[in-house]
Amino acid sequence: MESWRRFTQDQRIAYFSMEIGLKAEIPTYSGGLGVLAGDTIKSASDLKIPLVAVTLLYRRGYFLQHFGVDGWQQETDVSWQPEKHMQLLPTKTLVTIGQRDVKIQAWLYNVKSPTGGEVPILFLDTDIPGNEEEDRTITNHLYGGGLDLRLKQEIVLGIGGARILRTLNFDIKKYHMNEGHASLLTLELLHNARIPIEGSWNGSNSWDIKKVMEQCVFTTHTPVEAGHDRFSYDLVEQLMPPEVPINMLKDISGKENLNMTLLALSLSNYINGVAKRHGEVSKNLFPGFEIHAITNGIHPFTWCSPFFVNLFDRHLPGWANEPELLVRVDNIPDEEIWDSHCGAKAFFFQYIKEKTGKQLNPDLLTIGFARRAAAYKRGDLIFHDIDRLLEIGNGKLQFVFGGKAHPKDEEGKKVIQRIIKQAEKMSGQIEMVYLENYNMEIASNFIPGVDIWLNNPMRPLEASGTSGMKAALNGVPNFSVLDGWWIEGHIEGVTGWSIGPPPAEVDIEVGRAAEDLEDMYKKLEKIIIPLFYQNRSGWIQVMKNAIGKNAYYFNTHVMMRRYVTDAYIR
Ligand SMILES: *Cc1c(COP(=O)(O)O)cnc(C)c1O
Repeated sequence: MESWRRFTQDQRIAYFSMEIGLKAEIPTYSGGLGVLAGDTIKSASDLKIPLVAVTLLYRRGYFLQHFGVDGWQQETDVSWQPEKHMQLLPTKTLVTIGQRDVKIQAWLYNVKSPTGGEVPILFLDTDIPGNEEEDRTITNHLYGGGLDLRLKQEIVLGIGGARILRTLNFDIKKYHMNEGHASLLTLELLHNARIPIEGSWNGSNSWDIKKVMEQCVFTTHTPVEAGHDRFSYDLVEQLMPPEVPINMLKDISGKENLNMTLLALSLSNYINGVAKRHGEVSKNLFPGFEIHAITNGIHPFTWCSPFFVNLFDRHLPGWANEPELLVRVDNIPDEEIWDSHCGAKAFFFQYIKEKTGKQLNPDLLTIGFARRAAAYKRGDLIFHDIDRLLEIGNGKLQFVFGGKAHPKDEEGKKVIQRIIKQAEKMSGQIEMVYLENYNMEIASNFIPGVDIWLNNPMRPLEASGTSGMKAALNGVPNFSVLDGWWIEGHIEGVTGWSIGPPPAEVDIEVGRAAEDLEDMYKKLEKIIIPLFYQNRSGWIQVMKNAIGKNAYYFNTHVMMRRYVTDAYIR
């Protein structure tokens, strides 16, 4: 039996995502969205939830990040060999893009769990002999090129993905769109579900919208209106396959532009945001739609450092597939928690030494910050008042930073440059390292290897955030603005600390930076630094609370059970 056939025996949920991050060696992700998708799939595999995932195979990845002497980000292509990781399936499918037939092939990657569960992922690829040169490069880069390339990629993902599942004989119960990039799949479903009657749309077909809606689940991830993909109908008419009924598309996905989010919203019976607050914000953004909330998570085993894996295995056996067991973390002696943390910290500091030549002091309170360097994440906020920071933290604090800016995001690159320049001014007093090329491998050493995890985005733009959950699992408390998941996970002084005003007081952020900064400095000086140096057992209790009150709940096992009961088998 051909290898994929065993996956077509039972009904599955088809999970579509523009990016999937499984591990650093498969560079088909850029940040939180892709890592979430990978973690989702891993938990589905652990829990034996019948799923098949669909994404694109980016042969040139996202990019590798380097810094010039002036702290300006430079990018180079990634090269990797898909055939070392996955298996090319012989079956191909066709989609017409811009009047040309484009062949699509799929690579199969099987996510195997120690529980015996398996989830296949299909990585779609247009780099096939016989395709026009221009079409062979459609799937080369994640988030590269302009709008026309983006639309082509989304045609391959949505329409090509739905087609290849049919061609391979998958029996699909629900189509789950992880963000709007995949929403063209609804058009393929509509096309397949058309009812041939006279006098309706396009003359001869009626579109069974209800049937498609029953099949579709949509998760929105972006609380900023401008963050949603939009394409002009000129471009759509130029590129889209002829089967697509443009008139009805205009009815359901925006009069002026094709709004990918609106398309997915209009054709899904179950819609959710990725944290409670984000669900509320999305309701205001898209009035008229019923929007639920399922808070994101992280895959426990993937994000637990070997030091804590060892500790949890000894004290809470079974925790990796039943993370609820972490609720009993208080049974673990303080010294063992502290030793595991020091192990993770020493390991990370060794890594930093090898990469940068810098030796950080393991006894100093170390603040970590790493995520995509988008301007709204305000990575440089804490360095706004260097004199104040030195007053508070000289000899007591050090920083490790990481994160890539999108190649076209000048603002993001400026943020990185400012961080690096500010750090130079503090050198010899407060040390700061900005690690190059933040990716999943670095993240897995980085996050457990610092003492506190800083996050200060502009509200309400952090839909959920997940790196703070990775921190909590490894006993690293969060110090964060009350946005996204942290609104749900935060208990002041118990699981970590907040920065700035409570969410009820901030609708859309305008000019709250000074207030946030003041609160950040004040808490560091009066609460966090004293607790770390003068009350180690109090500090360790906060570490334990991060594990027992945050990590036991904010994980993709808990999250996937919610998707199953609320969205998949409704
Ligand atoms: C977890 C993760 C992210 C997401 O970080 P946020 O703080 O949630 O934005 C981004 N990049 C990598 C490599 C990650 O592992």
